[in-house]
Amino acid sequence: MTSIDSEHFREVLLEERRRVEHALATLRDEHPGSLDEEVEETADTSDNLAETATATVGREIDYTLGENSEEVLAQIDAALGRIEEGTYGTCVGCGREIALGRLETQPWASLCIDCKRRDEGT
Ligand SMILES: [Zn+2]
Repeated sequence: MTSIDSEHFREVLLEERRRVEHALATLRDEHPGSLDEEVEETADTSDNLAETATATVGREIDYTLGENSEEVLAQIDAALGRIEEGTYGTCVGCGREIALGRLETQPWASLCIDCKRRDEGT
């Protein structure tokens, strides 16, 4: 068990998801055709999202609406999946709880700050 209020974060993630999806839709309107393929691919691979997120989480996510939006969307979906599984807030790297402050600023985080730093080799 963790002390994470997953219901709170579920709402935060769903809200964030709406914002990112809206941003992606706006982006597609401005750049027709450039993003469609990857968006559909993301939707079709929900079973693999957790693994995908783990593989890509090493890069710091610069949350600017644009090139990273699809990645953020995948991270959000993976985080929502972890809420369903009851593993939300637990580091996928070491199994310890992710600091609450980190989840507040990056609710889709799947690695604790230690693992993330190690992953980045800094
Ligand atoms: Zn960790």
